[in-house]
Amino acid sequence: MIKVLKPCSKCKIEKLFSEFSTDKGRKDGYCPQCKACQRETRSKNLEVNRARAKAWRIANPERKKEHDANWKKKNRERVRKNNQTWEAKNPKSKTESRRRWRKANPDKVLAACRRRQAAKLKATPLWADHFVIEGMYELARVFRRAGLLLEVDHIIPLRGKNVCGLHCQDNLQLLSRSANASKQNKWLEV
Ligand SMILES: [Zn+2]
Repeated sequence: MIKVLKPCSKCKIEKLFSEFSTDKGRKDGYCPQCKACQRETRSKNLEVNRARAKAWRIANPERKKEHDANWKKKNRERVRKNNQTWEAKNPKSKTESRRRWRKANPDKVLAACRRRQAAKLKATPLWADHFVIEGMYELARVFRRAGLLLEVDHIIPLRGKNVCGLHCQDNLQLLSRSANASKQNKWLEV
């Protein structure tokens, strides 16, 4: 007689073979537990593991922090990409979180400003035309007052990765704020 039903080792119900996952390592070629029981076991294990992980995180906040920091260090590229995707989906939150960061870190903002000023001073050649340079900044201010968010940008950044530009009229241009922000301090063509 051909067997069409198989009892599940867990729920003990006799079920069709199609209700069992195949397992070549078994005598009859099928798992002892039915698919429904396997699903239940899997989700239960998942829950138990999640609860265990959560308890560990709560009990070891310092180690959790350390673990996160290590993971971020090892997955810099992934973190950067995730952030980028999130920012692209939440353009308002990006500005908002930047604003919050600035508010929470006034010393860092000031330090960055000072560094930039120092770089400008060092990068200003004798032949720089301060009248033209100031004029560019004034022009940007006028545009901004009119609602057009323009900024004076150093075409070759003052503190670029591979090259340092000069703070002079020939290296300045007006850029929209968003274009300027996405440009950052990169200068790839050396
Ligand atoms: Zn079962």
